[in-house]
Amino acid sequence: MDIASRLKEIRSSLPEGVELLAVSKTHTAEAIREAYDAGQRLFGENKVQEMVAKHAQLPEDIEWHFIGHVQRNKIRQMAPFVSVIQGIDSFESLQETDRQAGINGRCITCLLQLHIAVEESKFGFRPEDCIRMLEQGEWRSLSHISIGGVMGMASMTDDMEQVAHEFTVLADCFRLIRERFFREDERFHIISAGMSGDYETAIKAGSSMVRIGTGIFGERDYTNK
Ligand SMILES: *Cc1c(COP(=O)(O)O)cnc(C)c1O
Repeated sequence: MDIASRLKEIRSSLPEGVELLAVSKTHTAEAIREAYDAGQRLFGENKVQEMVAKHAQLPEDIEWHFIGHVQRNKIRQMAPFVSVIQGIDSFESLQETDRQAGINGRCITCLLQLHIAVEESKFGFRPEDCIRMLEQGEWRSLSHISIGGVMGMASMTDDMEQVAHEFTVLADCFRLIRERFFREDERFHIISAGMSGDYETAIKAGSSMVRIGTGIFGERDYTNK
């Protein structure tokens, strides 16, 4: 199957209200162009340099989502065009995104990455730390970002009950955070959860944005890029 057919098949399987982010990391601009020609507009990358290069070669109406670990010194490079930064896991990153978006006269949507997997990872807020950050309230004065929701990655395991549990925790955190901090703010509406291997499980738990790479573009080859 080619990219267009795989896209079509995945799209037709998504319930209404679930957005599809095509994760194009490691794939060529030509592959992205194929997906674009098939109507796809949301693309996700996890390396700033790579995303900047692809952005320069591809149509302006693509919505670029950064899904990698956010290094504060690299926010400046993507600030002129990135739509959504999905991996925000510190107040400092929010602050720097706000500063760089301001310099570019833009507003950038940020998702709060929550650590829901059992695996140790340096990335993602622990839910209680995320809530503490929000309670401190300084983020409310940042006018060039909007907090659009949460994102999470489940454990790398075949135990789908475990995965389902983790996605449920993410959705519960989303609802709690929305209730406490965003009740009046409709911009806070995204639960970004689910990849090629677990997106159906994520959707059942409440995901509103799935991030699919392999299922659209095929296996990634990290060696020849
Ligand atoms: C690579 C990646 C994906 C997509 O993974 P697939 O298994 O290829 O669908 C989704 N989310 C993040 C954060 C990623 O880094």
